[in-house]
Amino acid sequence: MVKQIVFSGILLITLLLFSYTLRRLGLLFKLTRKTAPFGQWSKRLALTLEVAFGQTKILRKPLIGFLHALVFWGFLVITLGSIEMVIDGITGTVRIFSKTGMFYSIVSASGDVFAYLIFIGITIFLIRRKWMHIKRFSGIELSPRNKKDAYLALLMILFLMVSLIGINFCFISASPDYTAGVYPISAQLAGIWKISQSHAHLFYEVSWWSHILMIFIFANYLPYSKHFHVFMSVPNVFFSNLEPLAKLPNLDAVTREVKLMLGGNAFQDSGSEAPTRFGVKDVEDITWKNYLDSLTCTQCGRCTEVCPANITGKKLSPRKIFVDLRNRMNEKGTQLIKNKSFTDNKSLVSNDFISYEELWACTTCNACAQECPLNISHPNLIIDMRRYLVLEEGKAPSGINTMFANIENNGAPWQFSPQDRLEWTRE
Ligand code: SF4
Ligand code: SF4
Repeated sequence: MVKQIVFSGILLITLLLFSYTLRRLGLLFKLTRKTAPFGQWSKRLALTLEVAFGQTKILRKPLIGFLHALVFWGFLVITLGSIEMVIDGITGTVRIFSKTGMFYSIVSASGDVFAYLIFIGITIFLIRRKWMHIKRFSGIELSPRNKKDAYLALLMILFLMVSLIGINFCFISASPDYTAGVYPISAQLAGIWKISQSHAHLFYEVSWWSHILMIFIFANYLPYSKHFHVFMSVPNVFFSNLEPLAKLPNLDAVTREVKLMLGGNAFQDSGSEAPTRFGVKDVEDITWKNYLDSLTCTQCGRCTEVCPANITGKKLSPRKIFVDLRNRMNEKGTQLIKNKSFTDNKSLVSNDFISYEELWACTTCNACAQECPLNISHPNLIIDMRRYLVLEEGKAPSGINTMFANIENNGAPWQFSPQDRLEWTRE
């Protein structure tokens, strides 16, 4: 009974902390624009099954992708075990799902195998990150804090697997005649490495508590970590941009201006207010999907690795766009929640975060969006920031400014008067 009370108290604190984080995230999302990629639900579901659950884009790098896929699939199975532990903790039962018979045997057996596979996979990830000097794991956008975060999350997962293996191993050693579940690898180990039942009972309790406490800490840590993709990847892929990558969405504010020029009553038609901003200058101008992308980004660097601008030495790194967006939302968004008119004389589009030079280095080739394993769309956001620079600050490379002037004066990008258009037919 004491165990149940202590467990319930810790669970309550965990849930309170987690709901505080969820509320904070909800308020940050409220600051963003409501433009929404909804509809086409069956297409979205199919894409989610393929990209998020099937891990198809991760598997483009076969070996390391396969290890990541194993970790992801393993987590899905092990999550069932974690839910069982929470119910056991509250009710005082032991392996309550074992009443489901065959289903439990399958889940517990695969959970046991996955615990060892994830342990191996995470160990390889750690070795690779620490000693193999993979180029995409570095970049100006990755601060020492980002790097520590990557190690910390991997170590937490490693700890979770060690404690889970400890639970299975000690469960078998403490009660050799157990009937709850099947543990193929742990049973083999328990057969080889014998420990007394009293030790097994003690280590079982230590492993059980260590594991569940680490789950609670991990769940509360994730929203502040790059590993938040553990929660966000499925919804982010579900709300992917379903249009062809190269198709740019029109800017609503410009569409309304054009309608007005054509004589329509655009604001009344749409029920919207007159636009206050053309394009994206700061976090209040982004869409909720842009923010979701930034929370989902794993900082894996696959986008930067294929970016032709980055490869040829330009300042642009597509990963930095979303790292900066998330940092800026943490910096300004949290202040805006307290004070709607907060300003710090900084903005996302500026030398403080994403510079003119970076934005205009983009060729809009979409290689980054194509390669991102979580279907994050960089060019659409880059274009919206450029739109702000052009429409509100009149800042564009000189070649583009000449073209804009020609379009304005001649109705075409060339320096010829419209009257001369048919000149070429004369002879
Ligand atoms: S679209 Fe821009 S940011 Fe993305 S890969 Fe191409 S050049 Fe780089
Ligand atoms: S945007 Fe995508 S590819 Fe780029 S670092 Fe983030 S998750 Fe990786």
